[in-house]
Amino acid sequence: MKISYSILVWLTLFTSIVKAQNNTPVSPCSADEILARHLENNPKALLEIEDNEDFTKAFVKQIVMERAKNNAQQSTAQYTIPVVLHVFHFGDDGKIDSAQVQSGIDILNTDFNGLNDDWNTIDPEFDSIKGTLGIQFCLASLDPNGNSTPGVIYYEDSLAMLNIPDLFQYAWDNYKYLNIYLPKYTGGSPSLFTAYAYYPSTTGSNNNAGGIFYSSIRWGYGSHSELIPGQDWASVGTHEAGHWLNLRHTFQNGCDSPGDYVDDTPPTLGGAIELSGCTNNDLSCIVSTNGENYMDYNHDCKKMFTEGQVDRMTAALNLPSRITLWSPSNLAATGCTTPAISILELVNSNSIMAYPNPAKDHINFQFEQIQAQLSIYNAQGKLVFDNAINGRSIKVNTNDFGKGLYFYYSTIVSKRISGKFLMKRSLPLYIRHILFSLPIGESLLGR
Ligand SMILES: [Zn+2]
Repeated sequence: MKISYSILVWLTLFTSIVKAQNNTPVSPCSADEILARHLENNPKALLEIEDNEDFTKAFVKQIVMERAKNNAQQSTAQYTIPVVLHVFHFGDDGKIDSAQVQSGIDILNTDFNGLNDDWNTIDPEFDSIKGTLGIQFCLASLDPNGNSTPGVIYYEDSLAMLNIPDLFQYAWDNYKYLNIYLPKYTGGSPSLFTAYAYYPSTTGSNNNAGGIFYSSIRWGYGSHSELIPGQDWASVGTHEAGHWLNLRHTFQNGCDSPGDYVDDTPPTLGGAIELSGCTNNDLSCIVSTNGENYMDYNHDCKKMFTEGQVDRMTAALNLPSRITLWSPSNLAATGCTTPAISILELVNSNSIMAYPNPAKDHINFQFEQIQAQLSIYNAQGKLVFDNAINGRSIKVNTNDFGKGLYFYYSTIVSKRISGKFLMKRSLPLYIRHILFSLPIGESLLGR
């Protein structure tokens, strides 16, 4: 009953937060409130969440021990998660376009991989424990019937736009896709909060009752988004994906053990305190608070997960309700196939230098040895560059690469090397096409 009690405590706090803010849309996440309601109706799910805790504890202990034994860094394993977005709109109202959809996906991929702009400005006190999870969220290109799909499904429905009916009825198999539901408002109009998500459980997945619910006006940047490009609020998506991968708020259980079940996140009362803005060291539990953590309620300084949180998410990816999603067979079935890279195949990516990163109109690759092949994939797993390299360097024209996260792969002898870089557009696409009306290189296979 420990968990349900703490949920009740935080539900009370959450309610007071909302009331205190005079009905302005201030709360970034209402996972505690929704989960409390969900678990009340699903005692089986509550038991499973407690069992998951035992698995997680043992799994994390094991990987931490192995790391210490081998004096190794945190794993650079790559995971791919097929995603389907369900967009609910009424006419143009709430009908976010594909560019805005992609923008939200890019933010997820950027944040999880430590490619966010403010990654290098983290408080020195917490910089040494920041961690990245090598994960790509990939818009599915094959639907459950094996037919082609853009990975975004639109539903014209004025009530669904307000998240009023049960949106789970539209779910795709939870064991194969991360379902992200994008009504315009998550809790009536105007929305008092932005999003909520469900923790891993087979009880939920068996009923296709999991995923992330998110107000589309705060998903990414674009014509239907109320966010200004660069605004930190957009990283609430990263916070929700953290919940989906079994992370709790850093202020879970307040100053009391077991806190958020992660060893390296300091306890904090967080929540109400952080809602007023970015306060990195509120000392609410005497020790400094990691206010820059994605799982806090801060608005203006979302920058990092800790290594402990990354370990916990890695454990979550191995739970029965998540492990099927990134299996090679599922990636093939959902059209999210990327080159299969195992941890053992990866070598130190310092063997390749890629710069500038983030890139704009070009990126240079410099190799320690003469390479056989260089391949670049976008975050959807589409091959955008593939070429044999003569010599030790190459400049790749990226004018036709869209904004977002890219992965490169190369080969030294029999070892594969991988890395990633971020593309930023310096000018709108149509202007760049006028300025850089150069022919696309023969080796450029797509966008
Ligand atoms: Zn939350």
